Amino acid sequence: MVSFTLPEEVERIREMTRDFARNEVRPAGIEIDRIPDPETAYTGERMQRLLASAYELGFHRLNLPKEIGGIGAPEMTSIVVQEELAVGDAGIASHFLVAPMIAGISAGAQNRHPFYKEYLEKFIADTKGKHSGAWAITEPNHGSDLFHFGEPSIHMETTATKDGDDYIVNGAKSAFVSNGWMADALLLMVNLDPSQGMEGTVTFAIPGALPGISRGKPLNKLGLRGLNQAEVFFDNVRIPPEFVLLPPGPAYKMMLERIVTGGNTAVGTLAVGVARAAYEEALAHAKTRVQGGKRICEHDTVKLKLFDAYRQIEAARALLWKSSWLIATGNPHLPTAMAARTMASDMAMRVTADMVQVFGGYGISKEHPVEKFYRDAKLLQIMDGTNEVVSLKAADELIGC
Ligand SMILES: Cc1cc2nc3c(=O)[nH]c(=O)nc-3n(C[C@H](O)[C@H](O)[C@H](O)COP(=O)(O)OP(=O)(O)OC[C@H]3O[C@@H](n4cnc5c(N)ncnc54)[C@H](O)[C@@H]3O)c2cc1C
Repeated sequence: MVSFTLPEEVERIREMTRDFARNEVRPAGIEIDRIPDPETAYTGERMQRLLASAYELGFHRLNLPKEIGGIGAPEMTSIVVQEELAVGDAGIASHFLVAPMIAGISAGAQNRHPFYKEYLEKFIADTKGKHSGAWAITEPNHGSDLFHFGEPSIHMETTATKDGDDYIVNGAKSAFVSNGWMADALLLMVNLDPSQGMEGTVTFAIPGALPGISRGKPLNKLGLRGLNQAEVFFDNVRIPPEFVLLPPGPAYKMMLERIVTGGNTAVGTLAVGVARAAYEEALAHAKTRVQGGKRICEHDTVKLKLFDAYRQIEAARALLWKSSWLIATGNPHLPTAMAARTMASDMAMRVTADMVQVFGGYGISKEHPVEKFYRDAKLLQIMDGTNEVVSLKAADELIGC
């Protein structure tokens, strides 16, 4: 029978995450959001202290197996942890979506190159937030194109060319690479065979400090300001063959869709967290703010907005849990993940706007965090593919014409 009851251990981790998100992530996220210069924000004491606390608690190694020093958290842990962290701050929560990427790959690649074993050990032992991964795929001229297969004229412009057994990489990944400024290891996708279009992509898992790799300035942006994003440049970067994760070919599309299935489920979950954060703040405000001689929650317009937020959050979460359950049971389903994510992020945009409305004029002020949730929600309609392009892709998969 399908059950919404979470195992005791998952509940325990959820409670711990909820406390951490409320007491540490939320206040730090608000402070970091208000620092005008992103570089100051990401190198500052507040960010360092927060990452150190989160790594000390083990959020970076939550899903890594126990045998290699991870927490080996049971199924459904990720989705509840992501939601709770995002209630605190969706930018910080985003850091933990990409941070373990290369450590996870390293666990299965330890015999291929000494880097993987060393990196995994450093990552597991990290209690300062010094080590993290990033996924560099989007390019300045190829964003939505990454979902475009079967047309040789559309392929990435960052190229790998062979030099003996090695690969030489040149080009740039866009300013949107999550964690791109701080990551010390990269999942990198670049073109090796233009005649195959996007299927001509080669995928590497590489150290982030190989000679010839440099970063742009961290992106100064509307929301999710706790998440560093930056361009990554490649100038004749020599990559040995041991770092190839997947050569070009039809398997690339399958791998990308697998990553996007997990990624969209996670991005949708962040959206639920942001919407819940706004709802909880607005509910508390509506119970104390008095207008017309009664608390504003007693006015039908406000009461119905709050109820509508509640039902939309619950509905979005239910579909995301289904997507997560499909992944956990070995049946990842791209259209379900895409349906859940587009629904959740559109919902978060509507709900955060409505919760600003519940606050009235106070909603636009930085005195309250709802204006921040509204800004954070916007980015979740673009992250991991725009909602329009993601919906078109899901419709193609489901309807096929
Ligand atoms: C918060 C955040 C985190 C991100 N993290 C990462 C990351 O970790 N790594 C990474 O590599 N990238 C990352 N990205 C980049 C992200 O994947 C791209 O921004 C996204 O895929 C859209 O590409 P683009 O920005 O180039 O927009 P474009 O592709 O230029 O799209 C512009 C507009 O055109 C529309 N459009 C484009 N093509 C079509 C089409 N074929 N049919 C219909 N409409 C179309 C889009 O819907 C959009 O409205 C992140 C982005 C954000 C916002």
